[in-house]
Amino acid sequence: MAGERSILTGVKRGFTLRCPNCGEGRLFRGYLKLRSPCESCGLDLTVYPSDDFPPYLTILVAGHVLLPLFLWSDHTWEPPLWVQAAIWLPLTALACVVLLPFMKGATVGLCWANNLLRQSSST
Ligand SMILES: [Zn+2]
Repeated sequence: MAGERSILTGVKRGFTLRCPNCGEGRLFRGYLKLRSPCESCGLDLTVYPSDDFPPYLTILVAGHVLLPLFLWSDHTWEPPLWVQAAIWLPLTALACVVLLPFMKGATVGLCWANNLLRQSSST
């Protein structure tokens, strides 16, 4: 029902917030709570551990996008520190909040592609 189990497929489906197994069912109910079992294919999505990897990816991506912009704006306009803080702190927080579900989805897809299951799982 699911086609091939590849990393690209899993990460792509997860990143688009869809079940990595079928690409149809929605991955989350709420912000980060996995919708399990999948509403479309019935796969138990809670067997895939994402743990600390989504926040790590979120910080990695947000940092690599926002830090150069911060340094560029600081170098170009030399705004006062309070202006920099007023711009970049909320923007960084917002970027992390927005990115986290996509990173968690991609991580679940990566685990699905590699059949990486929680320790407590039976296999
Ligand atoms: Zn599914």
